[in-house]
Amino acid sequence: MLSDQLRSAGVVGAGGAGFPAHVKAKSSVEFLVVNGAECEPLIHKDAEIMRHFPGEILGGSEAMRAAIGAERVKFGVKTKNHESLEALKAACQSALIDWVELGDFYPSGDEYELVYTATGRLIPAGGIPLAVGCVVNNVETMFNVNEALAGRPITRKLISVAGAVARPCTFWAPVGITFREAIELAGGATVPQFGIFVSGLMMGTFTWDLDDVITKTTAGLILLPADHYLITRRTRTQPEMNRIGKSACDQCSYCTEFCPRYLLGYDVQPHKVMRSLGFTATGEAHWNQWADLCCSCGLCTLYACPEDLYPKEACDDGKKYLRVAGMKFEQVKPVQVHPMKEYRRVPSAQLRKRLKVDEFERETPYEDILYGPNKVRLKLKQHAGKPASAVVARGDRVRESQLVADLPPADLGCPVHTPVSGTVTAVTPDHIEITH
Ligand code: SF4
Ligand code: SF4
Repeated sequence: MLSDQLRSAGVVGAGGAGFPAHVKAKSSVEFLVVNGAECEPLIHKDAEIMRHFPGEILGGSEAMRAAIGAERVKFGVKTKNHESLEALKAACQSALIDWVELGDFYPSGDEYELVYTATGRLIPAGGIPLAVGCVVNNVETMFNVNEALAGRPITRKLISVAGAVARPCTFWAPVGITFREAIELAGGATVPQFGIFVSGLMMGTFTWDLDDVITKTTAGLILLPADHYLITRRTRTQPEMNRIGKSACDQCSYCTEFCPRYLLGYDVQPHKVMRSLGFTATGEAHWNQWADLCCSCGLCTLYACPEDLYPKEACDDGKKYLRVAGMKFEQVKPVQVHPMKEYRRVPSAQLRKRLKVDEFERETPYEDILYGPNKVRLKLKQHAGKPASAVVARGDRVRESQLVADLPPADLGCPVHTPVSGTVTAVTPDHIEITH
């Protein structure tokens, strides 16, 4: 069964959330939606994988389609990536694929957005694609399904290294290598002081730590000079963000008017969530409920707000508050697309200007780099669900692709395999270190 093969190979969603693919493979739906929309600024690894490995992606897609009994595959690709699209079409032998050509907007790869564009269906508020007969998978996940079919466990991750680096590029990085090594493979940083956005400027995380490691969900590393506008914004503390928001928000509601989820018809209203900042003693629960359906795309904070405030972070906080309080927002009004939705889309070029990263927008061409690290640090939680537990001990000898961490089949999660042969030099609650 495909599901068993995917679990054994440790295939997780490569698009970011790391949802175990074997769980999705057990669904029974009408459409498989393949997500090649990639919309994080400066990262182009999905365009590269589609251009260079179309046969593998289509092989994985067909296996997933057959497993979930889908009638059709809806394959989303941006029209601007015409070389990727042509490569896919040339390699395609299936009559069951519909190509869904997408404009270059942010965030056209959002699951809700893509399902709507591909099928015309709106996922119920707070629901998942399954509710409207869809399973959504990223293109790299489809490549990895093909790997699993060939009996190869997932031990490498396709990443783009971009921004202030000498040679922006896309390559397969062994899982567990450090950011320092990945940056060196892209020719090194071009500025002395820099910060790293991991997996995206909009929805990724930020770190200064060069010794953090690549996981099965790392989409890329974007280096920006330490004094860059985005780093200054990102490194503010939450109390600072709240203080500024409380005094400067004039309730213009641009954050809501540009919110992609609001425009699709979901009751997300970040300007109302901003009001919660003024209710620190009591009453914030009322305003926080308008955050519950936010997908943290970051558009309100990084694009819409004319005052450079932090409505996305207020929503993140609001969602946490609701979780702790055991509250769930129920949307009463029907999900109905806003009449202005098409006119309020945010072109990627416009977004890059607003983020002040236009000078870093370059191709990240695929390079066939064969990197053999001396050491890897394999995180035990590289996926949604529970962390895996080590099945090896310090001092054990392991060989490339060997299983090193697993969890009971009934638990949501995925096993971990080593990309290198060597000796286990450390096992902690967080990771396994293997030295070649
Ligand atoms: S866009 Fe900015 S100023 Fe306007 S309501 Fe939203 S947070 Fe407040
Ligand atoms: S981050 Fe902002 S723009 Fe994005 S979904 Fe949440 S509220 Fe809407």
